[in-house]
Amino acid sequence: MSIQMTHRAGPESNPTGSSTTFPEVAEPVLRRVQDTIIAWFEDTARDLPWRHPNTSAWAILVSEIMSQQTPVARVEPRWRAWMDKWPTPADLAAAPTADVLHAWDRLGYPRRALRLQEAAEVIAADLDNRVPETTEELERLPGIGSYTAAAVSSFAFGRKTTVLDTNVRRVLIRLFAGRERPTTSPGRKETAWAAALVPEDKHVEWNAGVMEFGALVCTARNPDCQACPLQDICTWNRLGRPASATKPKTQKWAGTDRQLRGAIMDALKAAHVAGDGRHGVRLDVFTAAVTDFDPALLDSLAESTAAAVARVRELSADQDRINRLISDLVDDGLAQQVDGRLALPNS
Ligand code: SF4
Repeated sequence: MSIQMTHRAGPESNPTGSSTTFPEVAEPVLRRVQDTIIAWFEDTARDLPWRHPNTSAWAILVSEIMSQQTPVARVEPRWRAWMDKWPTPADLAAAPTADVLHAWDRLGYPRRALRLQEAAEVIAADLDNRVPETTEELERLPGIGSYTAAAVSSFAFGRKTTVLDTNVRRVLIRLFAGRERPTTSPGRKETAWAAALVPEDKHVEWNAGVMEFGALVCTARNPDCQACPLQDICTWNRLGRPASATKPKTQKWAGTDRQLRGAIMDALKAAHVAGDGRHGVRLDVFTAAVTDFDPALLDSLAESTAAAVARVRELSADQDRINRLISDLVDDGLAQQVDGRLALPNS
């Protein structure tokens, strides 16, 4: 699709961005933004291993799944280890699920690892071990949403797609609509608007460049407007950077169920490594009331497992809560409960 060209309503004529949620963008303004971001990306982009030439589509897909909600600095070492171990979808499909969860390490949201293995199984079994190219085919894989499909199709196969993650949305909304931040998730109208901003040529560089620009310059909390090469035409900057009426939800970690689920998973992983994994950890080491807890239970475990279990018990002494989280982990396929013991799946 070609860029919508208009001289009626761009940032110049619609400085508040209030009458048009997603304003049309004047062609000269759009061309300047495209050229600037693409040149900035070519000069400044981080040297991430999955951006190297000849990186396989599978390796790019893995990097995209790992990078969702996890900073790149934490992803990179895990991605390298993962690709050494499971260089193709068939390798991951054949791996024990417990090993997969273990290798996921502390990337968070470990259900992503399970979905990635399910996607690998489909690719290996049904697609001749080849990652599909189009967004439609990619979206049919388990755990692959529209963002990931567009990113893989663009970065691995050079297809023209609209990659719309939080970083991209924030940059476009600030530049052209004069708002501080986008809504929680993009609707059809925003997606069509963003699609019309993708250039016909260098669309891969545009997709990667806007993402990178949002990650490094136009960040959520501290955009570097002073150094920004687009400060003179950025609508939000020209308006004096008004704060959005709604504040973003900050995700707490300490004291949350996510933290406690992570601690239980850490105990199961420690048991897996220590060799207790085949039989798992007795459930009562997690769930016994503080008053009934027999410290000898910990002595029966390897030192690393005992330390991880002790951490769970430090975080919460609420038996109902721990029981609920254990059931959730089992329901999510992240753990299995057999004969009063808890272990990683398929240990
Ligand atoms: S001027 Fe500031 S808000 Fe506007 S694009 Fe640049 S960094 Fe983002």
